Formats: sequence, structure tokens, C-alpha cells
Amino acid sequence: MPLMILLLFGGPGSGKGTQAQYLAKEFGFTHISTGELLRKEVAANTALGQKIATIIKSGGLVPDEIVSQIVQENLPQLLKKGSVILDGYPRTVGQVRALDALCKGLPDVKIHVIYFQADAQTLKDRLLRRVACEACGTGGALDAKGSFVCSFCGSKKFVRRQDDNEQAILMRLEQYESDTAPVLDVYLKRRNVVKIDAAPDEKVVQRNVKEVVERFKSET
Ligand SMILES: [Zn+2]
Repeated sequence: MPLMILLLFGGPGSGKGTQAQYLAKEFGFTHISTGELLRKEVAANTALGQKIATIIKSGGLVPDEIVSQIVQENLPQLLKKGSVILDGYPRTVGQVRALDALCKGLPDVKIHVIYFQADAQTLKDRLLRRVACEACGTGGALDAKGSFVCSFCGSKKFVRRQDDNEQAILMRLEQYESDTAPVLDVYLKRRNVVKIDAAPDEKVVQRNVKEVVERFKSET
């Protein structure tokens, strides 16, 4: 039975994270983020982990090669348990090449790409409505009138992330677009990307993404 590596792309507010969790549960995929793998390496206090810790402490970005090395070390093991969702990787064209090289040594593994797409206005509106309960921290969204009731504790007081203001959001969206475009381009040229409209309600997106993954499964 061939395995699949599912790559998910989608800007802030696209709901990618929620859908990744859903897919992991629905299909029994292992959901791994490179952030998590890096943190594990640091926690294991290996030579590489110490190097990563130093970079992070100094506020630097962990270089391409190190991220790819971590993925290289962990992915084959994780694939033994079944298909995986790779979150936050590949982020650069260099990392795409590293993943290609890795997959060459893993027969019966196929890469599928899903792009959760929505226009900037939709994502911006969604991010502007995003809040958290002041009392218990549960996440939620303001309704059309701008009010909030916590689904967990019923409190009506909310807080907002400091970087969830209009200008910062637009910058984040643009940043995401420009960072992701070259990577997505590679997969688009391979005709390897399925685009899913991220604008509708979460449940609608969920139904669509389920259908897409079921199709992937029947193809592999
Ligand atoms: Zn609450």
C-alpha cells in the first residue's frame, strides 16, 4: 500500500491548521510540523539540538539545511506508521529539492499538495474577527455585531492578539504570499496541487478536503 506525504499550504486565517488536525484524525495520518521536530531535537539536547537552540535564542532563523536535515532524520521513521501531513515544510525551493531527494530513497511514497486559497479580503476579515476569551483563553470569533460569547465558559470579555490589527494582518498576508509563491510554483508546474476554496464555512471546507484526500488515496 503506497504511502502519502500531504503538504498543506494556506495563508494566515485560511484554516489550514484546523483542517490539518481534522485530516489527521479522520484518516489516521501523522501530523508533523517542522517547528515541533526542531523543538524535539532541542529537548533531546543532541549536538544539532544545541546548535538550533543557540540560533533560536539569538532570534535567528534556523537555516534551510538544518530544517531539511531534521526532516530527513525523522520522516522515514514516521512513514513507517503510515501517511503523514507535513506542516510548514517545504518553505523554500531548496527544501523542495531536499524533500525530492529524500523521497527518491523512499519507494511507494507519493507527495500530494493542497492549497487552501482565499482572497486577502476574506482572510483579513476572518483574522480581524479572531479573539480569545479573556477569562479562560478559549479561541473564538466576534459575530457580525462585534460581540463575543465564550463557547467554553460563557464569558463575554475577549482579548485580541496584538498583531491582529489591519495593517499587521495585511503585512502578514503579503509576506506569506511572497514566501510561498516560489515553492507553490514548483508543485504547480508538476500539476501536483489541488486548490480548495478556503472562504466557506469550516464544515464545508472540511467536506471538500475529505473528498480530495479520498481521491488521493484511490489514486495512490
Ligand atoms: Zn472562556
